Amino acid sequence: MRKWLISLMALVGLAVGIIVSVPAAHAATPNYTITTDTTFPPFEFQTDGGKYRGIDMDMLKEISKRENFTYTLKPMSFNAGVQAVQAGQVDGIVAGMSITDERKSTFDFGTPYYKSGIVMAVSPKSDIKGLSDLKGKTVAAKTGSAGADYAREISKKYGFKVTFFNDSNTMYNDVAIGNTVAAFEDQPVMAYAIKQGTNLKIVTKPAKGNWYGFGVKKAANAELLKKFNAGYDKIVKDGTYDKIVKRYLGDGGYNYKKNAADQTADKTTIWDLVKENQSALLNGLVKTLELTMVGIILAAIWGIFLGILGVMPSKLARGLSTTIIYIFRGLPMLVLAFFIYIGIPNLTGQKIPAFTAGVITLILNEGAYIGAFVSGGFKSVAPGQLEAARSLGLPYGKAMRKVVMPQGVRLIIPSFINQFIITLKDTSILSAIGIIELTQTGTLIIARNLQGFRVWLMIAVLYLIVITLLTWLSNWVEKRIK
Ligand code: GLN
Repeated sequence: MRKWLISLMALVGLAVGIIVSVPAAHAATPNYTITTDTTFPPFEFQTDGGKYRGIDMDMLKEISKRENFTYTLKPMSFNAGVQAVQAGQVDGIVAGMSITDERKSTFDFGTPYYKSGIVMAVSPKSDIKGLSDLKGKTVAAKTGSAGADYAREISKKYGFKVTFFNDSNTMYNDVAIGNTVAAFEDQPVMAYAIKQGTNLKIVTKPAKGNWYGFGVKKAANAELLKKFNAGYDKIVKDGTYDKIVKRYLGDGGYNYKKNAADQTADKTTIWDLVKENQSALLNGLVKTLELTMVGIILAAIWGIFLGILGVMPSKLARGLSTTIIYIFRGLPMLVLAFFIYIGIPNLTGQKIPAFTAGVITLILNEGAYIGAFVSGGFKSVAPGQLEAARSLGLPYGKAMRKVVMPQGVRLIIPSFINQFIITLKDTSILSAIGIIELTQTGTLIIARNLQGFRVWLMIAVLYLIVITLLTWLSNWVEKRIK
């Protein structure tokens, strides 16, 4: 029994080692990880081919070319991105980020590059004409943004409430469908969205004018900041920066939604949507499957280990198992994901790649559930079985392994299948830490084409297909084992 446990622990250690180990490739040119907002057009948005474009994105690309560095882009919600910089998980953020005095205490900003201000937008049918019409109403703002701070600041004075969204598009949608009466957003972004077909109108003048800047953690990434500024100077001087801005904001500027406005709902079928977004969907699906598979296998190993610990004669082992299960079953998965991806690196200064953080989250969370039903399964084998085996002279470990566990395994297989399906669904939570899996892919596609119903239906169907396949596979395995 003990040997068995040791090898199991070694296996878990090995598996965790493999996923935690950061690839130690040292390239000649430095490579930085840079975060951006998932969708903040015209500054950043994903194109049909899954590429990131927009003023910030094109600017970053040109600067990196001029300054000889490469970068890996990690798009996530603005709020998570800001935290990821502070945790040292990414080196910098370019996300239409406003340079504010408060942020200056934790960020160093590059040369200010775009002047902005905050406006309020309402539904075209709304009779709200200004801030003073907001009494008793609820407005929408984006978590962690300057717009949200502004809304909160004036909410008392004008007597309204604020709800928060993680991405701009969901926020616009909430106003468009009438859940909230107004959205607070940066003027250039709001104006651009409206021009591209978002069904809202701006009713206030820009307030709280501020400049956008490239941000790095304070005193932590001077080298990157220097390069960014030097490159920015060059692209301003040679006219590239102006060209980029014109590309998106000039007359006939790039229409990121590709005629979404006149793509009336009945013209695009779901099938068209699938075809149009084929590669993005495929990538998202593959990421979801990767997370699920790696997560399930490692969580199963960890969970079985916890389950066995939970039925060991040693009180300490049982106590340990119960405590671990108690903690990780009790924590919401989103909190756990943020704790691992943002919290721990904040403390240790050591980066954890998002995928690794995601897998660890799955192992701890799903593993706790697995641990609970595994030990439950073993415990539910009639105690007489163990006693009979022991009285026949079998030592405890052998009696467990040969008599109790084989019966317990049969009891717990259905729970395993259930847990596999839950794991697949839970991976969607990991979109919050910037993993572009299937759910996040859906968010990105909607930001482009505004077809909320069709896109979410398509994503839902994709999940169902995969879940059906997984269920078939599990049933097939179950029959073999029984
Ligand atoms: N400019 C706003 C800010 O810095 C919003 C940025 C964003 O949502 N990407 O808070």
